[in-house]
Amino acid sequence: MPIRVLPPEVAAQIAAGEVVERPVSVVKELLENAIDADADDIAIDVLQGGRRLVRVRDDGCGIVAAEAELAFQRHATSKIESAEDLYRVRTLGFRGEALASIAAVSRLTLSTRAAGEEVGTLLRLEGGRVVQRELQARPVGTTVQVENLFFNTPARLKFLRADATEAGHIARLVSSYALAYPSKRILLQHNEREVLRTTGTGQLFDVLVTLYGLDVAEEMVEIPEQREGEMRLSGYVGLPSLHRSNSQELIFFVNRRWIQDRSLAYAVREAYHALLPQNRYPVAIVSVELPPEEVDVNIHPTKQEVRFRHARAVFTLVQRAVRSTLMGRHPFSVVQIPAGGTTWREERRHLPPLTPEQARLGLEAQRTGDISPGWGRIAPTEEEAAERLPMLRVIGQIAQTYIVAEGPGGLYLIDQHAAHERIRYETLKEQRARRQVASQELLDPVPVELSPQQAILLEEHLTTLADFGLEVIPFGGTTFLVKRVPASLAGEDIPAALIEMLDAALEDGRPDFSWEEQALITLSCHTAVRAGQTLAIEEMRDLVRQLERSALPHSCPHGRPTVMHMSHAQIAQQFARR
Ligand code: ADP
Ligand code: MG
Repeated sequence: MPIRVLPPEVAAQIAAGEVVERPVSVVKELLENAIDADADDIAIDVLQGGRRLVRVRDDGCGIVAAEAELAFQRHATSKIESAEDLYRVRTLGFRGEALASIAAVSRLTLSTRAAGEEVGTLLRLEGGRVVQRELQARPVGTTVQVENLFFNTPARLKFLRADATEAGHIARLVSSYALAYPSKRILLQHNEREVLRTTGTGQLFDVLVTLYGLDVAEEMVEIPEQREGEMRLSGYVGLPSLHRSNSQELIFFVNRRWIQDRSLAYAVREAYHALLPQNRYPVAIVSVELPPEEVDVNIHPTKQEVRFRHARAVFTLVQRAVRSTLMGRHPFSVVQIPAGGTTWREERRHLPPLTPEQARLGLEAQRTGDISPGWGRIAPTEEEAAERLPMLRVIGQIAQTYIVAEGPGGLYLIDQHAAHERIRYETLKEQRARRQVASQELLDPVPVELSPQQAILLEEHLTTLADFGLEVIPFGGTTFLVKRVPASLAGEDIPAALIEMLDAALEDGRPDFSWEEQALITLSCHTAVRAGQTLAIEEMRDLVRQLERSALPHSCPHGRPTVMHMSHAQIAQQFARR
């Protein structure tokens, strides 16, 4: 179809909005154009988080010379013609606004040659005005180069975050499209370093390996293709052993458009119900295809949200598909707590997470204060928080979660995870303060596969981590090598802690986000003994000894209580002895 300016009555029906908010919006629009042009090979170059340069090169159909200027007019598109077309959109773009909006806030160069034309066109625009036009010899395809984004809108420039943050958003976006289009070769480079490269084999699994590394990819299971009427669903879901601290790895495509949809995210989380630890998110890539008339893509300025005509049916399909795929992989989380004698060190990888029941009994009761009235106040006051623990005698463990102990002041219940977290946190913090983190070189450095977004962020913070005795070095692409670890954490799952830390930082995004603090909290939390782990009496004693030495024994670094105390007097009162 030729490019035409949409008639005003059609343009008026388009959900308008600001398309170019930050560099990732530029990448998104240009990448979508390349995909719509049926390119097989797409190369994206980004400098300085995209504020200096975003360049997208494709080998798609190109733009005919006669239409090059037209492409930059508002509502000029070759993808739809009439208002009815809005209800059966088969392309990613359809509004004809992107090139116009991007050109208006940048210095843009278009270089293109259409299939069937002898020679290409070069067009340069500044702030939306054409300043140069030339014939150009070049292969069929299109390159759009966007420089000095927002040079003429300083207000918007001010809202941009650190380069690594902007680049991270871009990496996430490109990763998602790579997943949606496994048969395209997609390359992303940031500051001339390769962040992501897919090989276009057409196999989604190959893209998973590229993005997450083989270890993670192997923990993912293909959803057997599901059909329901005219709907089709495919994708991969992570085994319950694979989980994340946020929902970033819950990825949805509708007709190969990457979308955000709370209700589908909920459907997936529901399908994992009781299989994951509390507050953890699964990894899942779910692609739904349905007739274009069944989905309205014209409801959101960035086209990242869609409306289904039969939302309930889609929800059910997703939930059922994920659930049945997981159930087909029986048995996994049905691990029994091993009989006595084993210790958490041997079993920690196999023990189940806190069950909802344990969590309900423990955490819920603490939160609501709905505990026998004799128990001491749950949230410690400031004074109490600084109060040291007396010497305690360990009696045993209940619910594989709490240590029961006796002290001069009565009965103590200690949350084993929270307590251990506190201990690790203080040890690390103290060593860090003295700049004496005892660290230990690993005989075999451990490779960690990161997502492109995580990799960009990690690169920025390698020295902070080194200060904690955690030496990590780049190892090509998005792989890093852990070379040294804090001695107190030797033998623990450092890669998992690292990923957790990066996810927390990515999710947070607060300007005052402290890497130091996050590193401390994650390293201590991740390597601490979990709820649900059977502890040997010796281990409990050891843990309690260390907690006694802690300066702030009453709460974990997240602020949850570590100890509940019931005095002899309170006990006596409960038994009506007084
Ligand atoms: P839309 O994608 O919504 O149609 P855009 O402003 O993004 O609007 O692009 C305008 C038109 O320019 C497109 O409809 C398409 O015809 C043409 N175009 C843009 N980018 C490319 C590309 N990479 N290859 C071929 N044609 C393109
Ligand atoms: Mg477009």
